[in-house]
Amino acid sequence: MAKSKYEYVKQFEKDDSLIPNTWLVIRIDGRSFHKFSERHQFEKPNDRRALDLMNKCAETVMSEIHDIILAYGQSDEFSFVLKKECDLYCRREAKILSTIVSLFTSNYVFLWKTYFTDKELQYPPSFDGRVVQYPSDNNLRDYLSWRQADCHINNLYNTCFWALVHSGETETEAENTLRGTLSSDKNELLHSSFNINYNNIPEIYRKGSVLIKQEIDFKTFNLKGIEVVRKKKVVTILHVDIIQNKFWKEHPELNLINFDS
Ligand code: ATP
Ligand code: ATP
Ligand code: MG
Ligand code: MG
Repeated sequence: MAKSKYEYVKQFEKDDSLIPNTWLVIRIDGRSFHKFSERHQFEKPNDRRALDLMNKCAETVMSEIHDIILAYGQSDEFSFVLKKECDLYCRREAKILSTIVSLFTSNYVFLWKTYFTDKELQYPPSFDGRVVQYPSDNNLRDYLSWRQADCHINNLYNTCFWALVHSGETETEAENTLRGTLSSDKNELLHSSFNINYNNIPEIYRKGSVLIKQEIDFKTFNLKGIEVVRKKKVVTILHVDIIQNKFWKEHPELNLINFDS
């Protein structure tokens, strides 16, 4: 087909191809979710419905985008890991990022009423996103460890903060009480003042959510009406430690067993 005289404007588009053979991590994060969680009266420190909704959106994204091998989520963020050899959109950054962010966001709105049955969505939420490339398996493992460590640090702080607020302290007083405290101090505070054993708090809050694809057998009928067993991949949600080697050894299909660390 003949090109129109306007076609030259395509030359102004910049090449944003990602480097070949690197792990791609897309991290999305809710925009101003501190405010969003207040407007929607999220339970503090952890609203289980909000986390389940985030996980469902991530599950949908994972099912649609076959190159995603793992996703990790906590609070209002999710990281999606695309395999090194991914050739989605010829590795064009903007295409990959915008597809994942918009798919996640539209699902968040679409599925809201399933998780918040008694609460109308007050305004349209949005998520930002970025792509980071990791050249080595170690870098990727460290990235995921960083996000899970962040989940733990924030959750320990938030558990203390909201226990203090629910017991009568103002938010400023609770902040002052916690200023300069170590992890051991916070565990002790929870134990002595609130009879809470931090280790008994549900793992979804302490460890976040790890989504992987697992192959399962399912029975179906072939064209001749004979029962056959086929395989399909389903997304599984786990709340486990991904910092130590144990998880990676249990999932050799992820190809990320790092015996050195
Ligand atoms: P930004 O736009 O810079 O990301 P933000 O307000 O979203 O700003 P974050 O650091 O991303 O800031 O923190 C998200 C906030 O959303 C948390 O601090 C918490 O207040 C709230 N939040 C997210 N998920 C939940 C949840 N499941 N339960 C309760 N609160 C939540
Ligand atoms: P890609 O994912 O590569 O963008 P695509 O199927 O979205 O694939 P586009 O080149 O974006 O392809 O074209 C959008 C297509 O959507 C059109 O070719 C047309 O078939 C359909 N479409 C979009 N808007 C309308 C509309 N208002 N009425 C009828 N059809 C529409
Ligand atoms: Mg946020
Ligand atoms: Mg966040």
